[in-house]
Amino acid sequence: MYCKLSGLNSLKCFGTIIALLNSITKDCHVYKPIGYLLTLKRVTKEQNKITVYPAVGDKKHLSKWRIKMFNKLISNILPYMPKKLVWQFSKEYVAGETIEDAVKAAKTLNEQGILTTIDVLGEFIKNLDEAEANKNEYLEVIEAAEEAGVNGNYSLKPTFFGLLIDKEVAYQHIREIVEKAASYNNFVRIDMEDSPCTDMEIDIFRRIKEEFPDNVGLVLQCYLKRTHQDIGNLGDINSAESPINFRLCKGIYVEPEAVAYKNYEEINEHFLEDIELMLKEKMYPAIATHDKPVVDGACKLLEKYDTPKESYEFQMLYGVTPALRKSILDAGHRMRVYVPFGKQWFGYCTRRVKENPAMASVILKAIFVKG
Ligand SMILES: Cc1cc2nc3c(=O)[nH]c(=O)nc-3n(C[C@H](O)[C@H](O)[C@H](O)COP(=O)(O)OP(=O)(O)OC[C@H]3O[C@@H](n4cnc5c(N)ncnc54)[C@H](O)[C@@H]3O)c2cc1C
Repeated sequence: MYCKLSGLNSLKCFGTIIALLNSITKDCHVYKPIGYLLTLKRVTKEQNKITVYPAVGDKKHLSKWRIKMFNKLISNILPYMPKKLVWQFSKEYVAGETIEDAVKAAKTLNEQGILTTIDVLGEFIKNLDEAEANKNEYLEVIEAAEEAGVNGNYSLKPTFFGLLIDKEVAYQHIREIVEKAASYNNFVRIDMEDSPCTDMEIDIFRRIKEEFPDNVGLVLQCYLKRTHQDIGNLGDINSAESPINFRLCKGIYVEPEAVAYKNYEEINEHFLEDIELMLKEKMYPAIATHDKPVVDGACKLLEKYDTPKESYEFQMLYGVTPALRKSILDAGHRMRVYVPFGKQWFGYCTRRVKENPAMASVILKAIFVKG
């Protein structure tokens, strides 16, 4: 393992890890490493005795448990880690802090034949002054990217414009951003946030699409049980002249079982069912995944429906699975990369990991192996 951390920093990190281990579960008050970091002694409060959990010999259970605990641990300690250290993994997934960084990253992707969608990082603001400032930043981004000749569009999160404070204000800000993009004959995608936002975000999309039919799109998440129905319901604003441009992704938020599928196979199955419905309805699907089986399944559907190359695209996140991205490009499909940037990268990255602790292993690899 190539570790770039100094001995002292490594020790500090290790100390933080051990100190925070206690906060992971409620029924345990002490964890001690026994040799290998992830083999832990558990002391239960009730019995006040030391057990090794899970049972030794139950290899499958043990390994799953280790991964789960490890991921949870990393996601818990990440917000306490030095910003510099967190940047070691974030820089692969975030274009930088400034508009110039975003434009530069987008242009580099363009040179590889990749389209982009630029996103200013941030969400869930506290007051409407922030919403106004965020809108102005988007307007600046659009001007800068258009001036620089970036081949790409824009993505935004409605809560960044105050959706949860005043829906109408958020609508007005988003409308203004779409209007700006439309003045360059360009396009804005409304990202989908957690399920309390779904109806409001679909509503805003409907209203804006009516006014700017070719300049706005929406994200849907196939893990939501309602999504197949939502695609059908939105069919009323789909037309041959201005097909609805949906980005379909799995969904990144932690949702209750009542509203979302949880199982990997089930989620993938619904991903492909939703794509198929979009193709049948002659909508424009943006297939946003890094999951090879989903990419392969989508390719089969594109063939089945004899979909022209200009009637769909694949999308991926900045820095994620570049080899798979290249293979999709090489096969002649259109590819767009989501380019997030902004001062709020730290909060964004740590929140994402908290929401999806499975990302922790990726982070550790970036911090300790790549440096
Ligand atoms: C362009 C784009 C826009 C998105 N917009 C939204 C949105 O508006 N709302 C929303 O809820 N979600 C959004 N997402 C996130 C999405 O919902 C998934 O959480 C994410 O894409 C992972 O799902 P997956 O299909 O890649 O499959 P997974 O099964 O989760 O991942 C497959 C493999 O991809 C790799 N991988 C996936 N994600 C990452 C990552 N972040 N870092 C490192 N490796 C990774 C891993 O190797 C993993 O094994 C977006 C995703 C993309 C690509």
